[in-house]
Order: sequence, then C-alpha cells, then structure tokens
Amino acid sequence: MTTRRARNETEVISASVAGRMGGGALLFGAAAYYLTIVTDPSVSSSRLVSLVLSLSVVAAGVIALVIPWDRFNPRLTIILVPFILVILGVGNYYDPMPRIDAVFFVLIGAWIGLCHPRFTTLAFTPLIALVYWAPIAMRGDAKDLGSATLIVTAVSIGIGELLGLLRTGLERSRDELALSAQRRFSALTRNSIDVTFVFGREQNVRYVSPGAAKRLGYGSGELEAVPLRELLTEYVEGIFEEHVEAILDGSYLGESITKNHELRFLHADGTWIDVEATVQNLLDDPDIDGIVVHVRDIRDRKALENDLHYRAYHDELTGLANRAAFHREVQDARTDVDEATVVYLDLDGFKSVNDTQGHQQGDRLLRVASERLVSAAPGDAVVARLGGDEFAVLLHAGIEEATELAETFVRAISEPFALRGTMVTVGVSAGVAGVDSDGPDDQAIGDADMAMYHAKVSDSVAVSVYEPQMRDRLLQRLDAKSRLRDAIDQGQLILHYQPAVDMKTRAWLGAEALVRWNDPVRGLVPPVEFIGLAEETGLIVEMGRQIIHEACREAMTWPTVAGVEPKVGVNVSPRQFRDPDFLGIIESALSETGLAPDRLIVEITESIFISDIEMASQKLRDLRQMGTFLALDDFGTGYASLSYLRTLPFHLLKIDKSFVENAPTRARDLSLLQTINRLGHDLGLRTLVEGVETEAQAMLAASLHCDMAQGYVFAKPMSAARFRTAMADRQDIELPATTRGLRPKSVH
Ligand code: C2E
Ligand code: CA
Ligand code: CA
Repeated sequence: MTTRRARNETEVISASVAGRMGGGALLFGAAAYYLTIVTDPSVSSSRLVSLVLSLSVVAAGVIALVIPWDRFNPRLTIILVPFILVILGVGNYYDPMPRIDAVFFVLIGAWIGLCHPRFTTLAFTPLIALVYWAPIAMRGDAKDLGSATLIVTAVSIGIGELLGLLRTGLERSRDELALSAQRRFSALTRNSIDVTFVFGREQNVRYVSPGAAKRLGYGSGELEAVPLRELLTEYVEGIFEEHVEAILDGSYLGESITKNHELRFLHADGTWIDVEATVQNLLDDPDIDGIVVHVRDIRDRKALENDLHYRAYHDELTGLANRAAFHREVQDARTDVDEATVVYLDLDGFKSVNDTQGHQQGDRLLRVASERLVSAAPGDAVVARLGGDEFAVLLHAGIEEATELAETFVRAISEPFALRGTMVTVGVSAGVAGVDSDGPDDQAIGDADMAMYHAKVSDSVAVSVYEPQMRDRLLQRLDAKSRLRDAIDQGQLILHYQPAVDMKTRAWLGAEALVRWNDPVRGLVPPVEFIGLAEETGLIVEMGRQIIHEACREAMTWPTVAGVEPKVGVNVSPRQFRDPDFLGIIESALSETGLAPDRLIVEITESIFISDIEMASQKLRDLRQMGTFLALDDFGTGYASLSYLRTLPFHLLKIDKSFVENAPTRARDLSLLQTINRLGHDLGLRTLVEGVETEAQAMLAASLHCDMAQGYVFAKPMSAARFRTAMADRQDIELPATTRGLRPKSVH
C-alpha cells in the first residue's frame, strides 16, 4: 500500500502506457517523415538534415518506449513535448509536409488528452502550432498554410480535450467506487465486535480498524507504537512463535489462516484481556503485504465459562464440592502416596423436617450442617454434598483417625438446629472406607456408602467402618437388576410425553418422551430411580432401543398442528450413545416406523464428551448427516467448556432448569440465563428453557428471546393417549391471528 500504488489505482492510463504511447507517436512521426523523404521527389531539403532528423525522432521514440515510466508520475511524460517541438520546428524550416504533420498533430493531441491533465492540449497545442507555423512563416509560406494550421490545431485540441474528458470521467467513477467500498469497509470494521490489525514484517502495527484502539483503551496512534510481540503474548507460549514468527521467517507450514486461538491481549490499562485471534498471512498479497490479525473480545464468554465450571463442580445450595468434584478428588487421592479415607454421611429424618417446616427451612438446615462439617474437618479435607441430605468428606488420614473424625462430624450435626424459632434435631449415620489404589475408580465412595447404610440400619452405632461382608447389599442390587431386566422384557416400561412450546405463541411444537416404570407393586416409578442402575448394568442399551422405537412409532400418530409436524425428543444416556450400534438403532427405528428423520430429536448431555470427544463428535456428525435433530440437554450442569460447542453440530440448546428457577428473583441467575441464551444464538442454535414452573419465569424467558420452553406451567408429562388427544384438541383451537399467520418455528 505504498503511495505509488495508491496513485496508480486512480489513473485509468498508467505512466508506462502513457510513455509508450508518446514513444509510439514519435516513431510514427519518424517513419512517416522518412517515407515522405524517400518517396517524394519534390522534397528539397538536404538528405543529411532529413536523416539526422528522422534518426533523432527514432531515438526519442525508442527512449520513450524503454524508459521505466511507471516509476514516475504519468504526467511527467509531458517532457516528450519539447522533443516534438524541436523536431517539428527544424523539419518545417527545411521542408513543410502538411499532411504528415496534420496526422502527427492529431496523434499528439490525442496522446496529451489521454495521458495528461485536462486542458493540457488547450495550452500545449497552440504552442506546438506556433512552433510549426513560425519556420514556415520565416520561409514566406505562411499564407498558404495559415488556415490549414488553424484547422489542424483546432481538431487536435478538440480530440485531445474530448479524450481528456472521457478519461477524467472514468477516473472519477472509479474513485467513487473505491471510496464507497472503503467507506463500507470502515463502517463494517467500526461496527464489528472484532478488531482488525495489519502487522508488517517488522511486527509493527500498520493498520488498526477504526474505533479499535479506543475499545482496547489506547489513544489514537498509540497502538502503532507497540510491537505485536508485546500486544499478543504471555498466554499459550508457543502459539505466537508457531504462527506469527514462522510466517515472518518463511518457515510456516500450516494453512495461511490459523483459526480461533484463545490468546490474551494487552489492554492499555496493563491488564490482559481474553481474546480469540485469527492470524492470516497476507504477506504475498500486494494490496495488504502484511499479517492480518482479527481479535475478538471473549471476556463475556470466558466469564460464563468460569461460572459454568464453578457450577459444574460446586453444590449451589451449600457452596461445597458436588458429586462430580468429589469423584475427581477421590480419583486423584488414589494415586497419592499418603493414606486417604472417605467418610460418607447421611442425615436421618431430614425428609420430615422438609415436610413439616417447609423447603426453605430444610435448605437452611442443610447449609448450617455443611458449615458445621467444614469447621469440624481438617484444613486439607474435601467436604462435599453429594445430593439431597448426603454428604461426604475426603480425609488424608488412616482409618482410625478418620473414624474419630467421623464421630466428631456426627456429634456436630446432631446438635440442635434453630429453625424459625423452634429447635430441631436430626440424626446422622456415617460410614468410613479407605481409598484403595487397586480397586475400581469410585470403590471407596461405594464402600463408605455401604458402611453408612450398615450404621443406619443398626440401632447401636452412628459410625461404622467398611468390611467386605457388607457387600451383601450388592446382592440387593443384583436383585434390582433382574427385576429391571424382567420389566424391560415384560413391557413394563412406558413413555410419557411432555410438550415443548414455542416461547412466543405457546404453540406445541412436539414432545419429549420420558420413561416410567409401570411396576405392578410400586406403581409408576420415576426414571431417576432406575436409569442409573440401567446405565451401570448396561441394560440401558436394550431399554433405549425400545424407547426410541416406541417414541418414533407414537410420533407417527400425532396430528399436524398449524402446519407443523410435531417432533419427538428422546433422551440418550452416555452408555447408550457409546454403544457401537447406536446409529444402527436410530436408523432402524426410523425406517421401521417411517418417521421422517427431522422429526426425531436426539437429546444428549455434556457428559458424553468427557471420555472421548473425537468419537462423540464423529457420531454427532453422522447423526446430523442422517437428518435427525440434535439437542444438548441439561446445558450448564456438566463439564462446560464453551469452545467445543462451536465445533459440534447441535441444533438445540436445552438450558437446564436450575437457571430459570431463580431467575425472576436473583439478578445473578438472570444474567447467567441471558448470557447462555445469547451464546446459544451466537452459535446459531435454538434455545429451549427447561423446567418453567411459573408464569413469571415464562414471561422472563420470552423477554430474553428464548425460542422454546418446557415446563409444568405449560404442561406436565402425560400418557401417550392423553398427549395424542390433547394434540388433536389443539388442532381445533382457533389460534390467535398472529400464530396463524406466522408459521410457528419448528425445532430449529
Ligand atoms: P430431563 O431430560 O432433563 O427431563 C426433564 C425432566 O424434568 C423430566 O423428569 C420432567 O418430568 C421434568 N420436568 C419437566 N418440567 C418440569 C418443571 O416445570 N419443573 C420440574 N421440577 N421438573 C420438570 P423425569 O421424567 O423424571 O426425567 C428425569 C430424567 O431422567 C430426564 O431428565 C432424563 O435425564 C432421564 N430420562 C427420562 N427418560 C429417559 C429415557 O427414556 N432414557 C434415558 N436415557 N433417560 C431418561
Ligand atoms: Ca431431556
Ligand atoms: Ca433436561
């Protein structure tokens, strides 16, 4: 982008073309002159003079052809004019040749008009004419040629000015085009959230998009003084060397565009801000001749990621580590050299506190209990709430010491709790088990749980230490497994359906299939009570196959409402998803029932990415290829890293109910919900809020522009028959005008 190049851009005719055209005109003059001399016997001048003249014109013409004019301003070609003047003058002194001169004249006029500023012909042509005419006048022929000279001069000026006019018109429209493109570009960059830099080989900032400096806290011109190395560094050592420096020293082997590196950018106030940078090598592009770096501020995204990470590993109510975090800690302890022990604690009679005093008081009790645990535990212990009224503590101690500590915990929790003026006491049972590096991953937690159970059923002790014979409980599990096996075989698993609604119109877009165990003795058993067991035992694969098939079959019976073919969502647990034949199961369910693939929504949770992200993403791509819809379920409760979301082919983001629960009253939750929803939209996903229980939550989700919702406030899960008739009834409902006109969004 040197000045030379910039000027050339607006010239329709470049200096080299102009110079060559001038040289061409001179050569033409010489050739014509020479031809006249040799063919016209009336030519009287000395042959020597003619020869010298022709040769000098040829020389001037050749010089004009070879001079590297493009180094100069095209206007400079005007220096050819004195040549022309001298040649014309001397030639005419000896031998006027009016016809040749006339053509020559017109050519020169055209050339000046084409290659020089407007009105140059007007100024120069009379001068040339004067030089032409003067020698003739000196010879006394003025009268003969005076009027002819005047006409030729006028024609030459006319043609020259006409061409000049044409050229400047062209130049202007080209300038305007360039200017409007530039204006559009700067408007784009000004309004873009990205900041664009162009760096030269010396790593200095050559260009910064407008407004960027201000956004990063710099005054105008300040950024240009800072080398790239200092602006984009410190973080992820190696990225910089790998890409930018490698590009500069010519050793770069990757693609010319390096994608989405998370880097840190130096803000003017000295802090580092999280950015995502794309580096593009345009050193070979003569118009840019630099390295283009697009930088996007991702502070919001990072903050959300940190929040989600915190939530994934902490219990919201007590702020303690949660089950996932505790498993991780125990896992780590297995490889430690020091002894480690797990204490498992379970409150007795907590449910009755909840029932008699209300949930709020129950929550308070849990918070106070957790505080007591934390203060009774040594500093290096990990205290966790595993869910409900179950707690666990990881101790860096042997069994004996751990048992003493467990007794301290039990005493601390057994102290009365002051709830709304009344004192309440709850019992507590504890189990202790050592962490063994040989056993399965979470053996210690299971052992401690079993020991706790032992303490709970015995009347005499509150704390018991794990012993192998306690594994009898395992037999109970085996029993449960065979009962579940029978349930699957005897078709005791049934599906209920919960509608998903359009957030704006509340039209039903389809339903999620939710499994229940219709046990002849226990009645309808909710999935939380058997999905885990099915997962552990692998029964989930066969169970899942039946569920998917049944859901597809059922969806085929649903009527179309307001032109929308309802979709059906099925939940797929990690083990099911990992099954090698998972795609085959989906495929045969679709082909056997005839359900269109885009009516099936496959719901999976973030946990499928923990073990093998490559395998998981490939499966997702295959599913998408088949035409099914993909939903990321319970978003925000898992091991959220937002970077992967961008690369995975989901259609729908199901935002976990924990986000909407307190959004109407807690600003923090509201802003999280808003950020997640916006993030989903930024990534091109539809969003659905789960567990909407109140009108206030529904209004709020609508105001945040969430696309869809599910929850008790719209409809609870219902039997297949009820859903079918409810759908048919809704078909007859006169939908509000806005809904009818506006085809409700289908899922995605
Ligand atoms: P999920 O996928 O998050 O399903 C939504 C759960 O939230 C359902 O519980 C639903 O009844 C409940 N729900 C819906 N609206 C509300 C509301 O407004 N408030 C509250 N508090 N809850 C609401 P459900 O049916 O007990 O299912 C629990 C979980 O069990 C599901 O969570 C899913 O992870 C799993 N599950 C259910 N059916 C299947 C299945 O067929 N296969 C597999 N692998 N897992 C299933
Ligand atoms: Ca689900
Ligand atoms: Ca969910």
